[in-house]
Amino acid sequence: MGKMVIYPGSFDPITNGHLSILRRALTIFDSITIAVASDPMKKTLFTLAERMEMIRESIKKDDKVFVESFSGLLVNYVVSKKSNIILRGLRALSDFEYEFQLSLMNRKLNGNIQTVFLMTDYRWFYISSTIIKEAASLGGTINGLVPEIVCKKLKEKFAVNKPENKGG
Ligand code: ADP
Repeated sequence: MGKMVIYPGSFDPITNGHLSILRRALTIFDSITIAVASDPMKKTLFTLAERMEMIRESIKKDDKVFVESFSGLLVNYVVSKKSNIILRGLRALSDFEYEFQLSLMNRKLNGNIQTVFLMTDYRWFYISSTIIKEAASLGGTINGLVPEIVCKKLKEKFAVNKPENKGG
């Protein structure tokens, strides 16, 4: 069956940064399950179904990539998938402290599970779902930073509040 890694996150929405991590991980692991948090601590702009649909449309059909949702403790979900590896992406230094805390907490909860970090491509170093949403909400151009489907969905989402913006 090979080594399967779990890539958890809110993916609200998925960005080219997430896809960069996914592509890199595919050169190391046999398969990847993108695990979308159904009850993230933060309030999300997109529903769980929307977030999963955007991921499915963004990834090329690949029988080594799975998209699932999870709730509750991540380490329990990882065990339920018969895996012991969590994948996280690292961007600028600002990610480090939070990711360090998170992986130490997960290690405390289950010492058999390892967190693996991959560094993003320099092009996505400063890209986050949050900054993308902010720019999109103000009518900024986000083409080239997110998959096409995400661009479209963000425009739809914010067009409601900005009827003067016809997109394009
Ligand atoms: P969470 O809410 O769990 O942080 P995110 O969807 O924001 O979920 O992020 C999931 C993972 O993807 C995290 O490891 C995060 O560091 C990583 N990630 C987010 N944006 C990027 C990016 N631009 N480049 C590389 N990794 C990223």
